Amino acid sequence: MDEKTRLIRAGNAPGALAKTVGPPIQRGSTVLLPNAAALYDYGQVTYGRQGLAAQAALQEALAELEDGAGVALYPSGLAALSGALLAVLKAGDEVLVVDNVYVPTRRFCEQVLKRFGVGVSYFDPRQAPEALVGQASPATRLILMESPGSLTLEMQDVGRIAELAKGRGILTACDNTWGAGLLFKPLHHGVDLSIQALTKYVGGHSDAFMGSAAARDPAMVRTLNEGVLHLGWSVSPEDAYLMLRGLRTLPARLEAQGKSALRIAQWLSGRPEIAAVLHPALAADPDHELWKRDFTGAASLFTIALRPAAPAAVDAFLDALELFGLGFSWGGYESLAISCDPQLRSRRFPRDYGGPLVRLHVGLEDADDLIADLRRALAAYSAA
Ligand SMILES: *Cc1c(COP(=O)(O)O)cnc(C)c1O
Repeated sequence: MDEKTRLIRAGNAPGALAKTVGPPIQRGSTVLLPNAAALYDYGQVTYGRQGLAAQAALQEALAELEDGAGVALYPSGLAALSGALLAVLKAGDEVLVVDNVYVPTRRFCEQVLKRFGVGVSYFDPRQAPEALVGQASPATRLILMESPGSLTLEMQDVGRIAELAKGRGILTACDNTWGAGLLFKPLHHGVDLSIQALTKYVGGHSDAFMGSAAARDPAMVRTLNEGVLHLGWSVSPEDAYLMLRGLRTLPARLEAQGKSALRIAQWLSGRPEIAAVLHPALAADPDHELWKRDFTGAASLFTIALRPAAPAAVDAFLDALELFGLGFSWGGYESLAISCDPQLRSRRFPRDYGGPLVRLHVGLEDADDLIADLRRALAAYSAA
């Protein structure tokens, strides 16, 4: 054969892969099928967009974590929420969305779902399950929960809502990013769709985006994966590998960070500059009993309400922090802080938290060093 042909074919037939601890990062858009009949055999992977070895390994591991029949992967956490909703909703349906929902999810509901004829209304995160499901209409197709909410940490009685919704033929979905599939298992509580931003705790290193939706019902898993197919989404094998690598240390990181965060939250509770600490693992939190009943541990994300002061004082607090980085997202190994109030403006059921809110994510740094950092920031707050 001519050299041009030889160069195209050379090295294309690797032998059996050596066994490594992680899955192979298999790259490919085209998948070569063994024979003509296999080209249209939809029972097997015929195109790389469906995912290859690393994506399949991640799906299998996440199904184990969530205790689901299967998992659909999405290019981000937000895509998991929008993709799962698009997979199950149609024009004329209505959704009930918890009012403390992740703000970009709310934006998707307002600006996309409504445009396609899906009605959207919001419920107070602490509304009683009976009243919530009682307000559903015959068109209500789905209830979207987020418990605890990632800014103000209110919780829902997820199991009771799922039970009542089931009785009315309404689907339930839960954004379980805080629980990370580990501290809380929505599918064990009757929820149809357990969704999380893997970007956060599962990835754990603030360097990759991905989301997942898990279900117990195999038909629902098929619906989710068909939804991904229709939208033309896929995740790269490198990112799937990173998520799988993060998953291996998820329990160890969450335990260490959760413990550290609770210690810091307790310390902050006793400070005169603080009006309230929003953290369901604190005994004084209004949702503490729910958290104790349903969760096996606490994540490392919580929010403080500072005593009322000029907005410049909140900025002084944040700017005085040296160990806590100022940045969105959370779930990585490093500590972060943001001010929250601009994100509360779209709420339908505003709540008085006692002062301006600052959300803290506690990483793997030493807790005493982080407390010293917060002490410095509180001094700057008082001085401003
Ligand atoms: C970050 C986040 C998402 C979205 O995840 P991305 O990967 O950033 O799109 C969804 N829900 C919650 C609660 C989040 O914190």
